[in-house]
Amino acid sequence: LLMAYDPARRLARLQVSLERAAVNARMIYEVLDTVPHQRDQPDAKALDVSSATITFNNVHFAYGNGEEILKGVSFVAEGGKTTALVGPSGAGKSTVISLIPRFYDPSVGEILIDGQDIAHITKLSLRNGLAYVSQQPYLFEGSIGDNIRYGRPEATDEEVYEAARLAYAHDFILAQPQGYDTPVGENGVTLSGGQRQRLSIARALVRRAPILLLDEATSSLDTESESAVQKALDHAMDGRTVVVIAHRLSTIVNADKIIVMRDGLVVEEGSHTELADRKDGLYARLHNLQGSQSAATIEDLVAGEERV
Ligand code: ADP
Ligand code: MG
Repeated sequence: LLMAYDPARRLARLQVSLERAAVNARMIYEVLDTVPHQRDQPDAKALDVSSATITFNNVHFAYGNGEEILKGVSFVAEGGKTTALVGPSGAGKSTVISLIPRFYDPSVGEILIDGQDIAHITKLSLRNGLAYVSQQPYLFEGSIGDNIRYGRPEATDEEVYEAARLAYAHDFILAQPQGYDTPVGENGVTLSGGQRQRLSIARALVRRAPILLLDEATSSLDTESESAVQKALDHAMDGRTVVVIAHRLSTIVNADKIIVMRDGLVVEEGSHTELADRKDGLYARLHNLQGSQSAATIEDLVAGEERV
């Protein structure tokens, strides 16, 4: 019986991983794409970045099926600061992030960067201002060096090495059979989850974009990788405007501002201290819960709470 099930199970698994790869490839392709293939507004201007402050004003959004997913989201991600999006699965966190590079446009409301409505900004200049690190880093066919340089094709070798050093990737890259020329992808070396993440962070760093969008990995890494990835992220976040979908308590506690989302709305916002003091708040309850279950993610905790 088990054997009879096996091919179907394997096929299902394969399909899931292909779908994931397609989503990641699309995100990376679109963020990094330097040829704007969607038409800009006739009056579109180039983005003029000063502090790189991002403002959501009463943003509503529905995907094709018409169900409203964001129901009036407003918040400010201050320039140079880290804003953490927290909340149960399905709350709309990934959707919020996907509106910033304009994969989709709001149906109502506006998104501003330094006061400029991104609907009237050229996609090329908008996406040049952004770097994105996804939950499941995507590696392209090619060498390790190519995979970093994909972030900014004109980067010099020295700039690629510097990004790799900051991302704590330089040493493991040099330990590969052909260093930066070592092939990765289908026919290349196999890298660990932590190594792939550090390459993806190096790729974001080489872009030198003022805004970093980050979807923190939910799957746990081994302790050593975890600390290397954390140090790499600390470098990547330094001095940038960061919007992070946060799953780990350390990221959340260290964020300058926490936005708690639920059902397409912002239900609480503030610093960790402010929110933790609001005893009847969702965040405070989650924080108390997580203290006793250090391995749990925020999603698990919210789901657990909702079952109670
Ligand atoms: P979160 O990141 O907080 O888990 P998402 O933004 O991924 O939430 O999803 C919010 C809601 O939007 C969910 O109900 C999800 O099913 C729906 N959704 C997400 N992506 C799509 C899509 N491409 N088409 C239709 N519905 C979607
Ligand atoms: Mg999500």
